[in-house]
Amino acid sequence: MRLLEEKILKEGKILSGDVLKVDCFLNHQMDVAFLNRLGKEIYEHFKSADINKILTVEASGIGLACLTAQFFDCKVLVGKKHKSLNVSPDVYSAKVYSYTHKTENTIIVSKEYLGKDDKVLIVDDFLANGNACLGLIDIVKQAGGEVKGISCAVEKTYQGGYQKLVNLGIDVYSLARIKKMENGQIEFME
Ligand code: 5GP
Repeated sequence: MRLLEEKILKEGKILSGDVLKVDCFLNHQMDVAFLNRLGKEIYEHFKSADINKILTVEASGIGLACLTAQFFDCKVLVGKKHKSLNVSPDVYSAKVYSYTHKTENTIIVSKEYLGKDDKVLIVDDFLANGNACLGLIDIVKQAGGEVKGISCAVEKTYQGGYQKLVNLGIDVYSLARIKKMENGQIEFME
């Protein structure tokens, strides 16, 4: 069994609304040594993809994105959640429906930090329906950059986001892939 899958079985809790809680090590409290091992696993998968920037969205993907970036020796760009409708002309923006908060956010990234020379790896904590990743892909495209891959810690494969992203021709590599989450039980993909 994969590293993160074992950890989820030991420490994860299933909440209502198809939400898996792993914030005891992934993002509320962070087990840095463990996230470092996950970052290394991501690096091993994408090391020949010529990545020069990691893009995530605040706040829950930041820890994993930073620990991954040290292996690529690149910067981490954090998409900010912006409440106002008046988005400044100096930013790229995309509307993203939040799975956990059930609200729409506008994600913004300063034009100063993303451009046509960027070969981007998108990193986040969870991949569910794929909306967060689709928003980040849109932002990279607006900047003229290239999405080289997507790596989320936990992919709930049955929610469809994985397939949507793969259909776009993107290399999607998740560290734990959940096939089913029912009656308090988690079943991983083979
Ligand atoms: P998506 O946009 O793919 O539907 O959902 C991904 C986003 O929703 C992630 O950024 C993550 O913060 C949140 N999310 C989705 N499913 C879960 C879950 O089961 N547990 C937690 N903690 N967050 C989730």
